[in-house]
Amino acid sequence: MLFSHSLIKGGVHPEGRKQLSNDNDIMRLPAPKRLYISLKQHTGLPATAVVRAGDKVIAGQLIATGSGSSANLHAPQSGVVLKIATHRAAIPGGGEELMIHMLCDPERQNSSLKVDNDAKDRVALIDIIEAAGVVGMGGAVFPAATKIRSTLNKQIDTLLINGCECEPYLTCDDKVMREQSVEVIGGIRYLLQATAAPKAIIGIEDNKPEALQILTDAASEDSNIEIKSLPTHYPMGSAKQFIQALCQVEVPKGKRSTDVGVFVQNVATCAAIYNAIRYGKPMTHRVVTLSGGALEKPMNIEAPIGTLISELVASCGGLKGTASRIVIGGPMMGHTISNMHTPIIKGTSGILFLEESELPQKNSSPCVSCGRCVSVCPMGLLPNAMAELVANDDLEASSEQGLNSCLLCGSCAFICPASLPLTQYFTYAKDELGRQRKMENKAQLARRLNQQRSERLAKEATEKAAQKAAKKAQRGATRPKRTPTTAEQEI
Ligand code: SF4
Ligand code: SF4
Repeated sequence: MLFSHSLIKGGVHPEGRKQLSNDNDIMRLPAPKRLYISLKQHTGLPATAVVRAGDKVIAGQLIATGSGSSANLHAPQSGVVLKIATHRAAIPGGGEELMIHMLCDPERQNSSLKVDNDAKDRVALIDIIEAAGVVGMGGAVFPAATKIRSTLNKQIDTLLINGCECEPYLTCDDKVMREQSVEVIGGIRYLLQATAAPKAIIGIEDNKPEALQILTDAASEDSNIEIKSLPTHYPMGSAKQFIQALCQVEVPKGKRSTDVGVFVQNVATCAAIYNAIRYGKPMTHRVVTLSGGALEKPMNIEAPIGTLISELVASCGGLKGTASRIVIGGPMMGHTISNMHTPIIKGTSGILFLEESELPQKNSSPCVSCGRCVSVCPMGLLPNAMAELVANDDLEASSEQGLNSCLLCGSCAFICPASLPLTQYFTYAKDELGRQRKMENKAQLARRLNQQRSERLAKEATEKAAQKAAKKAQRGATRPKRTPTTAEQEI
């Protein structure tokens, strides 16, 4: 069934450029010599390393443990841990993260998780997903088990599987759906069990006709799994818009999708869940799209987590010249990096090497009040007004205007005839507000601790004084009366 795109508010139609990378089969990268596995694979706390320099590890062995908001990490290859030290990371603004540096051994040995692949119990299934370190691969990169566990006390009516991949250039989900349909459908069956949802709907944009057909065939015997075609319309893959398009339900502000009976998961995550439960395979690899006009041979590569981007580029025949911009993720929501000596993480969906002609116009001019940004904003915000407030450093006012609801989807910046860097304004404002809130929370905590300390000291002083007074009174009451001396009596 094809839905009308009017089912989602706003949005834009950027050029897809998916044909650059979606023709070839996924390439399996031979074991790299070195891996740099970041302990911080996603937002939230970093994982804690359980190996030390000099330890020999085998592929699949647990090397760092997660803690609810972080996921377990396993060695993608066998080898030796060289050290645990900081290394340049492919994060916005650059910077370093703590990583496990590994020297890989070409002799492969594998360690798999001991799992009960016939497990039916919801908690047992979630435990396996947690042990395997599976994270959501659709953008949020949140530990999958933590998200699924939140459904244990909620009723889920529909499982929505996101196969939209609406960002231009990216084709890794498309390739996973076409080449790993057994894993994707198998993972959905496990997720239906784990969430106790009665049915699943896979939503795929209509620019992926092969994936649509392959998954329809793969799920032909599953009466509770439906495949639906959605119009190609950015940002269809954003969770709120995706739910709106498939279920005609709007998730209220401040609520989660599970509050409206819906649970969303990405197609590649389903494949990872299948591999974890069926074969005890932890999440150690992922499919990454390498694309862009500056790359010799754009393609999708299945690579170990921790592989350096420079090694992936070499497997694509290198660069044609120099890339004007290297982007992690898609061109709409991704971020720029300046160094290829940085490793991929579980959430790296794509790396784009863009030529000058593929970049938005650099020079911006003043806002012409055309209102286009307002009409395309999928969240119904006023991007022009918010940007003006941010430019005037009135972040609180921009927050009142709805900055927190901004998806940073880039639709407003894409359509702006003045080429205003609207998304950059909002990214900066969100980061700055987050930083200020953190500082305020810290200051509040310090004030509270100080107050508690003063109250405790005052209480202790009062108690001490009361004890002293009581002792003195007791001494007075028990002291024997002095008998007057003879001389005193004679006087
Ligand atoms: S980036 Fe934010 S303000 Fe701009 S269109 Fe997307 S949601 Fe709206
Ligand atoms: S699209 Fe650009 S020029 Fe038009 S109102 Fe929005 S910010 Fe101003």
